[in-house]
Amino acid sequence: MEERKGRRLLLFPLPLQGHINPMLELANILHLKGFSITIIHTHFNSLNPSTYPHFTFHSIPDGLSESEAATKDLVLLLSLLNAKCIEPFRECLVRLLSDASEEPVACLISDVIHFFTESVADSLKIPRIVLRTGGASSFAVFAAFSLLREKGYLPLQESRLEEPVIEFPPIKVKDLPLINRCITEEYSKLVSGLSNGAKASCGVIFNTFEDLEEHALARINQELPNIPVFPIGPFHKFYPTSSSSDLFSIDHSCISWLDTQAPKSVVYVSFGSIAAMKEAEFSEIAWGLANSNQPFLWVVRPGLVQASEPFPSGFLETLNGRGHIVKWAPQKEVLAHPAIGAFWTHNGWNSTLESVCEGVPMICMPCFTDQMVNARFASDGWKVGLQLENGMERGEIERTIRKLVVEKEGEEIRERALKLKEKANLCFKQGGSSYQSLDGLVKHILSLES
Ligand code: UDP
Repeated sequence: MEERKGRRLLLFPLPLQGHINPMLELANILHLKGFSITIIHTHFNSLNPSTYPHFTFHSIPDGLSESEAATKDLVLLLSLLNAKCIEPFRECLVRLLSDASEEPVACLISDVIHFFTESVADSLKIPRIVLRTGGASSFAVFAAFSLLREKGYLPLQESRLEEPVIEFPPIKVKDLPLINRCITEEYSKLVSGLSNGAKASCGVIFNTFEDLEEHALARINQELPNIPVFPIGPFHKFYPTSSSSDLFSIDHSCISWLDTQAPKSVVYVSFGSIAAMKEAEFSEIAWGLANSNQPFLWVVRPGLVQASEPFPSGFLETLNGRGHIVKWAPQKEVLAHPAIGAFWTHNGWNSTLESVCEGVPMICMPCFTDQMVNARFASDGWKVGLQLENGMERGEIERTIRKLVVEKEGEEIRERALKLKEKANLCFKQGGSSYQSLDGLVKHILSLES
């Protein structure tokens, strides 16, 4: 722990699992750097202050009705939060800024998708840094949406899906970060909010590292010439902590099950906190796993599939202890376990980065938005994974698993994953790129005057 800085930081995560985790990891890093931390969070997906006794928490009403809070439409949810949180957030900031018993506030660090915070912070004259919890490569693509429109890549044309986007190798047209390959007005608004929000900020923090996303970071530096950019990831590796910000309850039984498995044999299967699938797709996954003959640990989160009995008939009986199924796993611990041989992932950015950090090769199956970009980088950029390009079909799943985990054909991928792990584990050590960037961030925060 470094000497106290006498300054407080206000952190405001987006209330989704993949955004909460990195924001709280960042909070831990900055706390250890000597800042006091106040977390502002919405009632929706409310956080549990008792797991972080070293932080102060303030909860704000988000105004979501029960049906709005239950929506499966992510774009709608994000738009509602941006519209309904303005006043409660402003009131909370006013209270916090006028509290003379607390240390002075150095700045607000907001998730970049909470773009309404820009005008609130401006009106209260508080400097605002943004955290982009996704990767730099997908951010660079989002920031270039008008260029992609000018060049005719967007809106997406079915006939061009396999074409490369030459401005963003190795991305193909089908990888452009959309939902169901279409671009609605609401989605466009979110994308421009994301990139304009970063342009209007006092700095952008990324949970990534130079060696992983060098080109994208260089491009972002060009696009945002006056905004300092801080790639200081992988956050969770800086100061590993046992504090948890999980919205689901963790099933630790999988660790003792993994202890009984052979090294590098188990396929860990998880599609994150939001992705959902049809019963037929789920069934192909189940049979692909069963037929691969590899042991597997599968996270079947409530809501992953809409069915009263999700597992196909006869599937569970075939397993004989070869498969372990949980509702929510301690993922970082799982990926670091010596029994893990591959990660079948939806390529959410956190999952992608956590896999990179442990040298686990990936089976990539992106669902929407930035996941497609992350998956293309994993498979064709860093070449540490194989992408299921033709949807979910049990035969292809079985072949892909065997290729990646046991067959000679996957050997180079497995080796590259281990090399990338070495780079990921150097960048946050003294003298590494993220270590230095973090020092730069601390100096930058201390130079901001509210
Ligand atoms: N996660 C976990 N246990 C699980 C599944 C996921 O702890 O069973 C964590 C995972 O480690 C990651 C986050 O949930 O930090 C998911 O974020 P990601 O960006 O990968 O995907 P999202 O949920 O946002 O789609």
